[in-house]
Amino acid sequence: ALTIGIVGLPNVGKSTLFNALTRAQVLAANYPFATIEPNVGVVPLPDPRLDKLAELFGSERIVPATVSFVDIAGIVKGASEGEGLGNKFLANIREADAICQVTRVFADPDVVHVSGEVNPKDDIEIIATELILADLQTLEKAIPRLEKEVRAKKAEPGLLAAAQEAQAILETGTTLSQSGKQIEHLDELQLMTSKPFIYVFNTDDAGLADTAMQDSLRALVAPADAIFLDAKFESELVELEPDEAREMLADSGQEEAGLDQLARVGFHTLGLQTYLTAGPKEARAWTIHQGWTAPQAAGVIHTDFQKGFIKAEVISFDDLVAAGSVAAARAAGKARIEGKDYVMADGDVVEFRFNV
Ligand code: GDP
Repeated sequence: ALTIGIVGLPNVGKSTLFNALTRAQVLAANYPFATIEPNVGVVPLPDPRLDKLAELFGSERIVPATVSFVDIAGIVKGASEGEGLGNKFLANIREADAICQVTRVFADPDVVHVSGEVNPKDDIEIIATELILADLQTLEKAIPRLEKEVRAKKAEPGLLAAAQEAQAILETGTTLSQSGKQIEHLDELQLMTSKPFIYVFNTDDAGLADTAMQDSLRALVAPADAIFLDAKFESELVELEPDEAREMLADSGQEEAGLDQLARVGFHTLGLQTYLTAGPKEARAWTIHQGWTAPQAAGVIHTDFQKGFIKAEVISFDDLVAAGSVAAARAAGKARIEGKDYVMADGDVVEFRFNV
């Protein structure tokens, strides 16, 4: 499964956030596919459509899609002093498919800030600089090797060109994802700053109400997504029964729990989407990549579904709810029969037909 690595300077609230994520995971652990690893938090992707489907179909249970977060411990204190990042840390980041940086905005005088004052912009730069330097080191080694290999016709010239273009961008102090440049072959170079980034700003009550501050931080990290949450509050929220949690959330004036936002944004940042199935046993969201076709989507349920794919009956969620049942949707002409070239859309409710 694709994973999101959580990074950040010390004392910004990473562990608090990660603990909240692993508490949220307790729920997901009821599902057969969830395995528990100490540094991985597998959280459900919130999707109110599943409740609605379960109601329509009388489903016994709901199985949401999940999002995996990895706690990348070990960013070294003094990274800003040029001590650099530990090898294990770098290896862990390389394995992640997206990077989520937790940044401190909350102003608690009892919690020491590593550089003496709370300054989200500096924190972001410190981490970005370390990752840029690590990528530049990777490229300094890779480029001479690629030059040789291209001469010997053992590597594609495009790969060397990508490495050189990436180096030029990194030398300006910009991460590759921030630069917005689409470079062919970039993924093959396994650089860290080409991964998509998400920023979590760990904020207190005052910050959650301060839209001007939020707008300026959003602008700072764009095109990356920014999420504002209170990690301490989130860790309390996950301890409550769902009804109590909803009440506490409403009292705080927030529309959606920070963890739910993070799961949603993270899922999207990984380039994933879901389609839905429903029946008396379960209402379920299945994870696919954006742009996948119907047979590829069917393969997520079972490889035989992909091999023997004939067609898919697709009803969009809104049409199904409006009609009230599959039979009514069919009668209203809202059930489409799609073939093997159909590209799945978000919210498709699907039944596959296949040969065995
Ligand atoms: P880490 O070093 O980044 O993993 O940070 P921790 O999660 O251990 O948090 C460092 C300290 O900050 C702990 O004492 C937390 O209780 C506190 N802390 C974390 N999040 C918040 C928050 O949102 N508000 C306040 N006031 N304190 C927080």
